[in-house]
Formats: sequence, C-alpha cells, structure tokens
Amino acid sequence: MHKIYPLIKNTNFPSIRRSCLKTIQVNLGYKCNQSCLHCHVNAGPKRREMMDKKTIDNVIDFAINNKIESVDLTGGAPEINKYFKYMVNELRKHDIHIIDRCNLTILNEDGMEDLPSFFVKHKIEIIASLPCYIKKNVDRQRGKGVFDESINILRLLNNIGYGVEKDLILNLVYNPQGPVLPPSQIELEKEYKSYLRKSFDIEFNNLFTITNMPINRFGSTLVSQDKFKSYMTLLKSSFSEKAKENVMCKELISIDYNGNVFDCDFNQMLKMNLSGKETHITKMTKKYLHNREISTGDHCYGCTAGSGSSCGGTTI
Ligand code: SF4
Ligand code: SF4
Repeated sequence: MHKIYPLIKNTNFPSIRRSCLKTIQVNLGYKCNQSCLHCHVNAGPKRREMMDKKTIDNVIDFAINNKIESVDLTGGAPEINKYFKYMVNELRKHDIHIIDRCNLTILNEDGMEDLPSFFVKHKIEIIASLPCYIKKNVDRQRGKGVFDESINILRLLNNIGYGVEKDLILNLVYNPQGPVLPPSQIELEKEYKSYLRKSFDIEFNNLFTITNMPINRFGSTLVSQDKFKSYMTLLKSSFSEKAKENVMCKELISIDYNGNVFDCDFNQMLKMNLSGKETHITKMTKKYLHNREISTGDHCYGCTAGSGSSCGGTTI
C-alpha cells in the first residue's frame, strides 16, 4: 500500500472554517465483510479496530449534550460492532435521527437476521452503496456475487417499507469505477430508478453520486497505475467555488473508534488532526468547534470538483 499523506499534505486548497455542527459521523470500527477496491477506509474482514462501550457512551453523551440533529454510523460495516443496537436505542430515546451506512450484504451474515425490523422500529435512514446497476461492474468493484446479494437485500428492504413508505428512507450511493468525475446526479438517479424498477421491481428514494477520494486503497491503486497526478489535475481543474461553500465538514465531525475527532471521515483516514489543542470527543463541545479552521489537504479538491461531493452526494 502506497503512503498517500505525503502526496496531499502540501496544498493550496483555500482556507475554510466550520459553521454550526449538525451531524456527527461515527466510525464504529474498520471490520467489514467486504473488501471493496475503492474503499477509502481499507476496511475488510481482517481488521480488528472496534469502538468500545466506554467510547460509545462518550459519543452518546456528546450527541445529547450538544443537541446533535443526526448521527451517521459508518465503518467498516457499522452493524458488526456489538454495541450498534445499544447506541441506536440510546440516541433514539432523544429523538436523534440515525443514518446507517449499510453495505447491504451484511444483512445476510449470521446473527444479523433481526436487523431489518430493528431498522424499521427506529426509522433508521439507510444509505447503501450500489456503485452501478450493472452486475459485472458492481462485482468487479465490490466482489463476486455482491450485486445479486445486494439486489435481494434491496427487495427485502422494499418489502418491509424501505424506499416506499414516507418515513423509511432508502438512499443509494454511486461512485465512479475509476479516476473520473461522477455524471449528473439527477440524470443518473433517473437511469437507476428506471432500470432497477424495470429489471428488479426495486424502489429507492435518492441516489447520491460521490467522487472517489484519492486516498487509501483507491489512492494507492492510482499511484500503482501512475494515475495519481492526472487524477489530482482533474480534481483541481474542476474546482467549484460554490461547492467549496457547501463542503460537508462545515457542519459535521467524524469520530474514530478511539473517540478522536476529525473534520471528516477522509481526514480521519489520513490521520489529519483537528486544528486546536483538543482532539478527543470527551473534550469537545459545539461551541469549541464553531468557526474553527478546517484541516485541509489536496484531497479536499475531491469535495469541490464539478457539482461537489459529500456523504450526501452532490452539494450544488
Ligand atoms: S462495504 Fe464499504 S466499508 Fe466495507 S470494504 Fe466496501 S467500501 Fe469499505
Ligand atoms: S476532504 Fe474533508 S476536510 Fe476536505 S473539504 Fe472534504 S470534507 Fe472538508
């Protein structure tokens, strides 16, 4: 694996500052049942890093005390963490909205049988990766058999109301297969909806198109293929001032499995600390974070290229 941090740390990305914190993205651990090619976390079945109960309680306290609107659970596969349900139960007591970044296939694993009904009970918003509606493209990026499994799980979710009933939101995520920018989110969503409905009778709410970040597994592949520089040139030449105004880190923090706080999930992976002396969730407040300068690198151009990119898709 090539080291990416030295390639992105010296940057001319414009200075940006935080506004009001609304969402906390919590990485419950790097273990995953898949090992996708584009994964910016380097997640996989052999990873052991996992958030413990004490840290989960710290995160819950932070969310409640700071009146956080949404908690976005990610990983790896966040559902693998044995305190996943405990955390959701505690946060829902305070009416905090929960997002689960679900890879779909995790629902087929042993011990996960009751997760769909748990999702319904707590009206958890599901954001699921489906990087293409063509089987061979998904299997190439995410592993053999993943497309068929994902389709079966999407059907199951539709059957229990996801993507169909008003308060059971099912969003899908698209990311390009290689070092190119995503196409128009609106147009691609129409294509996805039409194809998935016609071919598999599947419904979903929104499609989020996300630009591949030139870090970790994807970044390393670019370096191996001698495409890192040309991809960075593409991202930089597609810079949008308007997308810069809407970068997700203004209203979000990312917390790693040890409770360390970062400006976003990508910075967490690069171990780029928050500016200022406090870095742990137990020392953090909304007030402390407000107007704080965001730690940036050349990878930030991945969030501002074209129509912009965030965990919720385009930003313009
Ligand atoms: S499912 Fe998600 S977390 Fe798991 S390896 Fe794939 S991209 Fe990474
Ligand atoms: S990479 Fe992270 S810090 Fe940089 S602009 Fe995107 S969200 Fe903000």
